[in-house]
Amino acid sequence: MAAKKKLKASKKKAEKKAKRRVKAGIKASATVKNKTRATAGRAPGATAGKAAGTDPKRVAAILAKLDEAYPEATCELKHENAFQLLVSTILSAQCTDVRVNQVTQELFKKYTTPQAFAYATPAELEQEIRPTGFFRNKTKSVMGTSKEIVEKFSGDVPRTMEEMLTLPGVARKTANVVLGTAYGIASGVVVDTHVIRLSRRLDLTRHEDPKNIEQDLMAIIPKDKWIQFSHQLIWHGRRVCFARKPKCVECNLEKLCYSKDKTV
Ligand code: SF4
Repeated sequence: MAAKKKLKASKKKAEKKAKRRVKAGIKASATVKNKTRATAGRAPGATAGKAAGTDPKRVAAILAKLDEAYPEATCELKHENAFQLLVSTILSAQCTDVRVNQVTQELFKKYTTPQAFAYATPAELEQEIRPTGFFRNKTKSVMGTSKEIVEKFSGDVPRTMEEMLTLPGVARKTANVVLGTAYGIASGVVVDTHVIRLSRRLDLTRHEDPKNIEQDLMAIIPKDKWIQFSHQLIWHGRRVCFARKPKCVECNLEKLCYSKDKTV
């Protein structure tokens, strides 16, 4: 009799234990599901606010893929010297390179030196660069910068970031374009709208402002790749990784990319 009671009790105990296990199992799988949802589109180990896609091996793989796709990427603003590139870059703010090239084709025939731009007639120059937009401010920047170059730098575009930043209308992006493309000086990474979008999609940075994005990129991209990397990312942004509907099926970075914007 006693043995029978003992058996019944242990059976009940086992059933209770099994029920508890099932309950716990459901809870555990729910936790996993929630976790999976919360981290979707993020690299393993990623935490909010910190880009986890910056593992050196992954960065090297991205650079190799960009080299493969765009071995000859370069600045698409037409220019014959550093000064022309500086003027074109100032004009390119909020404007396409194609439009700037159309405007500068005539502009550089008329204004052939920094002196010519420095002492131009503002109203005339405004009309000539009008198609690039924001023409009043751009006229002020082009003339002011040209004047500084003539009067403080003997007519030559300076070769350091510090000096470049003393020119009116010149910030880090413009300085990086000119120093990198015209002089081959790696002063930083050009951070334009394409570089902002792509470096975030590729989880190379979690920042939104150009200053911090540039710092993040400079920390993970080898210095000898800074110039080329900027051009390649801009080319990729213009040809494949569009802001809206990126062409992910044609993207050779697709396997390395886990952006939530992906279209495949
Ligand atoms: S896979 Fe798509 S989102 Fe990712 S880099 Fe390529 S084009 Fe851009």
